[in-house]
Amino acid sequence: MKIISTPIELKEYFKNSNKTLGFVPTMGALHEGHITLIKEARKANEIVVVSIFVNPTQFLKGEDLDKYPRKDDADKKICELSGVDVLFLPEAASIYSDDEVSILAPKVRGFVLEGFSRPGHFNGVLTVVMKLLNIVNPTRAYFGKKDAQQLNLISLMVKQFFMSVEVIGVDTVRENDGLALSSRNIYLTVKERQEALKISASLQCAAKMLTQKIVNSQVIIQKMREHLAPLEIFYVEILNRDFEIIKEVELANSIILVEVKVGKTRLIDNIWL
Ligand code: AMP
Repeated sequence: MKIISTPIELKEYFKNSNKTLGFVPTMGALHEGHITLIKEARKANEIVVVSIFVNPTQFLKGEDLDKYPRKDDADKKICELSGVDVLFLPEAASIYSDDEVSILAPKVRGFVLEGFSRPGHFNGVLTVVMKLLNIVNPTRAYFGKKDAQQLNLISLMVKQFFMSVEVIGVDTVRENDGLALSSRNIYLTVKERQEALKISASLQCAAKMLTQKIVNSQVIIQKMREHLAPLEIFYVEILNRDFEIIKEVELANSIILVEVKVGKTRLIDNIWL
């Protein structure tokens, strides 16, 4: 596995390549969710590139940028064992300069849900993803459906900027007890981790209601809120795949999304129906 740390070096490395390239951008502290993205990239492409970059511009003041988990050695091992060809590990100084052109998230879709609780977060996400896609120039880029709003906004950016990369959404990987894997789960105490199971339980409850032909969004949301209590709820929302609020769940076109705070940790999860 080749390790590259600057954009110029990476561009140079692939200058004459005409192989298909699958790209998995991450912030490190890799877990089975990231590994699944890498495996998907491995299946469909001749070359796989993973980036690890804790992007400062997507963290708001007071968020966990400084204490975001960093596990460089373990991450390198995981990438090597997962068959990654190139690991891109840039420093912030090689990605950003003082006077920046940046991408703004759309006014509506970028500032609801997680974008409402973290205003400006998606400006940072879209800007860094644009930069990384331009550096790596992949055939396909892989993102988790767990970050549904992020995936939706990146797909929209790629479409609206007429970019040629294919964006692939990958299903959420969970622990055996239902908790969605996240690098932030390590912040949870044993008790909080137990409390966090309410999130997947609330989503399972929604799925069960659908099997009972209950499709009214408000009825489902109310029941989910009861399941989540007493956690601090940022939102429980039912949207179609264009991220518009819908009164009734439309099968094969809906996403149910949750964001809660468990202790001091903000967790998101969702199901795609
Ligand atoms: P992160 O390192 O948290 O920025 O995540 C990097 C990529 O991995 C993003 O596209 C995430 O959506 C994806 N991802 C994170 N957790 C999971 C998971 N549990 N299952 C599938 N993909 C995930």
